Amino acid sequence: MRDAPLRLAINGASGRMGQALLALLRDDVRFELCRATVSSVSRHLGELVWPDRALRYTTGWADAPALDAVIDFSGPAGLAGALDHCLAHHLPLVAGTTGLDAALAARLDAATGHIAVLRAANFSLGVAVLTRLLREASAALREWDLEIVEAHHGRKEDAPSGTALALGEAAAAARGTTLAADAVYSREGRTGPRRAGSIGFAVVRGGDIVGEHQALLIGPGERVELGHRATDRAIFARGALEAAHWLVGKPAGHHDLDAMLAERVAR
Ligand code: NAD
Repeated sequence: MRDAPLRLAINGASGRMGQALLALLRDDVRFELCRATVSSVSRHLGELVWPDRALRYTTGWADAPALDAVIDFSGPAGLAGALDHCLAHHLPLVAGTTGLDAALAARLDAATGHIAVLRAANFSLGVAVLTRLLREASAALREWDLEIVEAHHGRKEDAPSGTALALGEAAAAARGTTLAADAVYSREGRTGPRRAGSIGFAVVRGGDIVGEHQALLIGPGERVELGHRATDRAIFARGALEAAHWLVGKPAGHHDLDAMLAERVAR
């Protein structure tokens, strides 16, 4: 445990995730919030009420104070700016923004030659553990049928969720295959019997469900069910803070939540 709190910048501080992070940071003595960056058109530009200190929402990275790490939950343009700053000042970057185009994803990959980057489509520690368990179960029960069921609120626009796909990819890799080869995304009408080795997805949408994922490994006469249920979006903020704390001091490279969990398991 370090003596001094880690000096942190939150990029996208006025957004849903940014506000969830700020709410946790108010009581987290491991960190000192030093920069809260928002879009240049954000209505939040201006004073940020913060215990003990005058702090303002700012835009861009000019005149940023000394930092130990940056957490980004903004958008592709915001992430690109944060990445430039991290590269210029050799700072670790926790990147939560999703929906990157290929060029920005390639820039992030290239940056791992110079700085420590931890990127995740889902920062829930519970989902990270579920992924580990599913990987192990899928390999050990290789012949069993695998189905992944996810449920989200009715406003969600994509399906299956990115997390369901990531779970499927992890399971497929553990079985030496890919989703491109073995995923079945929908069933309707006369589908015929289930193809051995396929990985099926099913989707539920409705109400205010934050996010539920269940993996069913179905064998002859028995079934393993692995699941995760999110009830609060703060889980992503909590996971991102854990990741930032873990990432500071790590060498340049691509880091992930699984490596962070592996260290915990080994402890
Ligand atoms: P939001 O729209 O509520 O907030 C976006 C924030 O980014 C705002 O503060 C906005 O001012 C800021 N912003 C926009 N452009 C910027 C720029 N150029 N520079 C600096 N700041 C800029 O969005 P949200 O729901 O908080 O989500 C943000 C991102 O995080 C999205 O890509 C979302 O998909 C992703 N997300 C990831 C996870 C995860 O676990 N990885 C979880 C939730 C959301």
